[in-house]
Amino acid sequence: MATLLLRNAARVVTMDADRREVADGFVLIEDNRIVAVGGPEALPEGADAVIDLPGHVLMPGLVNTHHHMFQSLTRAVPAAQDADLFGWLKALYPIWARLTPEMVRVSTQVAMAELMLSGCTTSSDHLYLYLNGCRLDDSIEAADEIGLRFHAARGAMSLGESAGGLPPDALVEDEAAILADTRRLIETWHDPARYAMRRIVVAPCSPFSVGEGLMRDAAALARSYGVCLHTHLAENQDDVAYSRERFGKTPAEYAADLGWVGPDVWHAHCVKLDEDGIRLFARTGTGVAHCPCSNMRLASGIAPVPRMRCEGVPVGLGVDGSASNDAGHLLGEARQAMLLVRVGHGPAAMTARQALEIATLGGAKVLGRDDIGALAPGMAADCVAFDLRGLSSAGALHDPVGALVFCAPPAVALSVINGRIVVRDGRLLTLETGLLAERHNALSRRLVNGD
Ligand SMILES: [Zn+2]
Repeated sequence: MATLLLRNAARVVTMDADRREVADGFVLIEDNRIVAVGGPEALPEGADAVIDLPGHVLMPGLVNTHHHMFQSLTRAVPAAQDADLFGWLKALYPIWARLTPEMVRVSTQVAMAELMLSGCTTSSDHLYLYLNGCRLDDSIEAADEIGLRFHAARGAMSLGESAGGLPPDALVEDEAAILADTRRLIETWHDPARYAMRRIVVAPCSPFSVGEGLMRDAAALARSYGVCLHTHLAENQDDVAYSRERFGKTPAEYAADLGWVGPDVWHAHCVKLDEDGIRLFARTGTGVAHCPCSNMRLASGIAPVPRMRCEGVPVGLGVDGSASNDAGHLLGEARQAMLLVRVGHGPAAMTARQALEIATLGGAKVLGRDDIGALAPGMAADCVAFDLRGLSSAGALHDPVGALVFCAPPAVALSVINGRIVVRDGRLLTLETGLLAERHNALSRRLVNGD
């Protein structure tokens, strides 16, 4: 058994049941799980490996609940810079039609590297384009290589323009093929065990890109295997209008009628979830992935996060796809969550600590996990440390935890995922990021320019 001791951290944010913050604290790891957390009075004598963290905040790894990593290839595309959701999608669909398996693999690693360097240790990714031989396996293998805990969501689009959907017909798949591939992925990759590094999620893309039949069949399939369900819902006013016109229902009513509520379901955005929807989600334990940067970028609106949390809806944080953010900094996203909610609901609507709670425990709950999101004995050994001795937090050290969210978001100094050190001294140890960016830029040029 190998032990790793992280000690002398200026502050350990545990996110345990008492939300303890420990000064001069330590975390002791044995293999892939945490065995002890505490202050100087309980410091263990030693371990196989010891890392000192003076001036650092040590906390649970952040959890990202919504992403489309392939979109890293199409960040800041001029034709999609100033559009709303539907206009943005229509500008990008023809470009995405050229996506290849290598592009999926490289862009996924770019997105994952960015996430990991900003404190993320677990992420979901929603891949919904299966063209030119692209498979979800490409993303899963990319995650294995880089060392991120991964919930791979098998997205899908089946409703093309000619059938009243938004995407071009060339981008959609046959529904039977979608279900067969989803079943194959669950049987090949899904790990239901505690501390699992890899889970599969069933995730038809959105009400305006799949039919009702597929939504129902997908829910039945997911439940027959005990895996989670994920999709987009109530993202903006046009999304709500589409739901009312096509189905005669609000997005929440549509989800409820299809069986898409419950503790095994989480929906991205829910910016326009109404009061009845909020109460329905609270009653059923249905989760929400809140994506503040994307909601601002596409001017979708301000999600009613305080109402959701007040009613007991599980809320996690998501950076969303890299083409509508276009940054994948998860700690920065927690800061944006706090700031945006204040614009909509007042300065007391979210504290810095609540923002960190959404980014850790909130995300864990939304993904259906009770083994990540906190530093406590028996939890997975996923922890990150931020060094607050630099310029950006100078003058804020009377509250190092508040400084993490209020000041400019730092890059992570140390990251441990499943007991393995993946970032040390701010450097990713599992991949060479310079070469990765170079390759990614070449693929991006090919995708966007079509040559
Ligand atoms: Zn999305």
